[in-house]
Amino acid sequence: MKYCSECGKGVELKIPDGDNRERHVCSHCQTIHYKNPNVVAGCLPVWEDKILLCKRAIEPRHGFWTLPAGFMENDESLEQAATRESIEEANANLEVTNIYTIVSLPHINQVYILYLAKLKDLNFSAGVESLDVQLFTEEQIPWDNLAFRTINFTLKHYFEDRKNNSFPVHHGTIEKNNRYQ
Ligand SMILES: [Zn+2]
Repeated sequence: MKYCSECGKGVELKIPDGDNRERHVCSHCQTIHYKNPNVVAGCLPVWEDKILLCKRAIEPRHGFWTLPAGFMENDESLEQAATRESIEEANANLEVTNIYTIVSLPHINQVYILYLAKLKDLNFSAGVESLDVQLFTEEQIPWDNLAFRTINFTLKHYFEDRKNNSFPVHHGTIEKNNRYQ
């Protein structure tokens, strides 16, 4: 960031009084421009013994499969964000039940929060950000073509938990490595 979004003058990197890390601070109006992690909200939509995945029509990871999820907007709840993303990406008619996975990605400043959700019907279809939307049994999951490690984390837990019919919240941290996200 070079210029203050409040007054248009230049900003400088410095540690504000009482803070402990560098921020962009406007030298003119003194506004401190904080940058904090983004929340990615989404769903794991379930229909009988199958789960719904979307094939991405956008970068990053164009052509890879993912759960419907995306950046939370201002003025919405987490649950609303997860539901909205499922409609945008899959036109899915679903009911979110409970929070299922919470994954921190410190290297890209994101936190994923995914809900378990019940599909209400089979009237789903690809939204503009998806090339395709399909239901998969455990055996059909395209493990080598999943878009993100967060999705892998969530699906692994799901199929493990399903054996016990118990779905506690799972949380974890995914660190930077040489692979995607
Ligand atoms: Zn300013």
